[in-house]
Amino acid sequence: MGGVNEPTSTNGSAPDPDATTHSSLDADSPASGGSLFGGFAIDFSNDIGAVPLANAVGPIAFGEPLATDGGAPAAAVAGGARETKLLIIGSGPAGLTAAIYGARANLEPIVIAGSTPGGQLMITSDVENFPGFPDGIQGPELMAQFRTQAERFGATIVDVDVERVDFSSRPFRVWARGTEYRGQAVVVATGASALWLGLESETRLRGRGVSACATCDGFFFRGLEVAVVGGGDTALEEASFLTRFATRVHLLHRRSALRGSRIMQERALANPKIEFHGNVVIDSVLGDAKVEGVRLRNAETGETSDLRVDGLFVAIGYKPNTDVFREWLEVDPMGYLVVRNETESQVEGIFVAGDVHDHRYRQAITAAADGCKAAIDAERWLETQGVSEAVTATAW
Ligand code: NDP
Repeated sequence: MGGVNEPTSTNGSAPDPDATTHSSLDADSPASGGSLFGGFAIDFSNDIGAVPLANAVGPIAFGEPLATDGGAPAAAVAGGARETKLLIIGSGPAGLTAAIYGARANLEPIVIAGSTPGGQLMITSDVENFPGFPDGIQGPELMAQFRTQAERFGATIVDVDVERVDFSSRPFRVWARGTEYRGQAVVVATGASALWLGLESETRLRGRGVSACATCDGFFFRGLEVAVVGGGDTALEEASFLTRFATRVHLLHRRSALRGSRIMQERALANPKIEFHGNVVIDSVLGDAKVEGVRLRNAETGETSDLRVDGLFVAIGYKPNTDVFREWLEVDPMGYLVVRNETESQVEGIFVAGDVHDHRYRQAITAAADGCKAAIDAERWLETQGVSEAVTATAW
């Protein structure tokens, strides 16, 4: 197992009786719903621009800004904009792998990483299926290593959210926290974010016992009882993880048959702390200042009943982070970007990588491979445009 399929955005949650959130993020934080890239508990409010290579981070210090702008290797242009041959949007495995490859091809990439960078692995605990780590690795540690490696080769990483793009002509333009970035080519690697049930009570109690990230918030439910909603691998994984802290984990699914993989079903259902409730729909989350339970409706009989829990973890799937691109790039019926010829979008010079288009594999390793392909394709395309020098052998 190993949650390598980037579960993106997260929300803090705490069952604290005082409704003080101990969690990494709270309902008002950008990552609790507004952030493009979702992610982790890092406060980047102090960042003022690009993170220079010299400030490459080691392990990420939570609650601390990663670095401040000490000058970027990419050329500054008039009006405070920044210009590069390769602009990368997103900082999960796809974006940072594109950055490693782009930097090694001398494209001096700028990565617009999002205000909660690192992608979905930042909210994953043990990653056991990423090759090269036979004993597993923690998701945030793996992403810190990706980032260090990208910066080592000269990538500039800026921890801000993209607000708007203009892909009508070259250089392509991207605006993030008041700064304009320009790229001769762009790799879009913005991933996907966690979905919510859409209940008023769920929104109101986010950060007060409702969460989409067991890894971030499970600790706060030590000795308490929690529920997980969903029937896929994410729900099974979150439920198993939560048994480390909670006395009992209720797995709530709207059908009787789980969707998750057999191995994860077996593992979760064999756990004596996990109780499966099939055919149940959550009508509302109970509680004023904090979660006190959930009101369940039997999907077959319509009967309602209340289940007393201190926390609710929502694990019902993901939404691709494509909103800012919709004016320019084609999306499929599920909202994922459409690619052709491996990594190309319909705009020449804009390449796509990772979960923002891939709803089939959704693995860190496949996203990383996609980032590699997108950077190689971008480099070759830039050569054809005379932007980067033609080389006989690129030291990828
Ligand atoms: P999935 O789409 O696989 O599952 C979502 C689940 O949530 C389904 O059971 C669905 O019900 C349920 N659901 C959806 N909407 C609602 C709603 N509004 N109310 C109640 N329930 C709802 O998403 P996952 O995030 O679980 O997994 C995504 C992909 O990532 C999968 O391919 C999975 O295998 C992979 N993954 C792999 C992991 C690993 O290998 N370690 C870990 C986690 C995920 P229904 O079944 O009725 O549609």
